Amino acid sequence: MPDMETHMPWEATRRALATELAGIDGVLPGSVVLRHMRCGKPGCACKHDPPTLHGPYIQWTRTVDGKTVTRYLTQDQLARYQEWFDNARRLREIVAMLEIASLHAVEQSEAATAPTADHSTPVASRRRTPRQRPT
Ligand SMILES: [Zn+2]
Repeated sequence: MPDMETHMPWEATRRALATELAGIDGVLPGSVVLRHMRCGKPGCACKHDPPTLHGPYIQWTRTVDGKTVTRYLTQDQLARYQEWFDNARRLREIVAMLEIASLHAVEQSEAATAPTADHSTPVASRRRTPRQRPT
């Protein structure tokens, strides 16, 4: 383990996340699901029991101005867009981890600047230590 990580584990984590974040150059909103469907044709195999449904169709759903918008993608389109869909998921993961790492840094910083945070000490007698930015 590098020395930096021993001293500043959360800083190292945040830097690694920030580096990964910088590599993301495209994200697509919404979600992609594969759907099998029934059609409107009477007597079609999709109406049989058990049914042979049509598809799979690649359904891309996202919200635009509060409305759900659905588009169907071809296999080829999905293959081309997949990386940006994956990026969107990874971006949410990175943000969530960055929040955790940042909160830990804040806690660490506050613990370092206020070692006796118990309220039994009168405020007037507490040593004033300038608050530091989270490291
Ligand atoms: Zn059908």
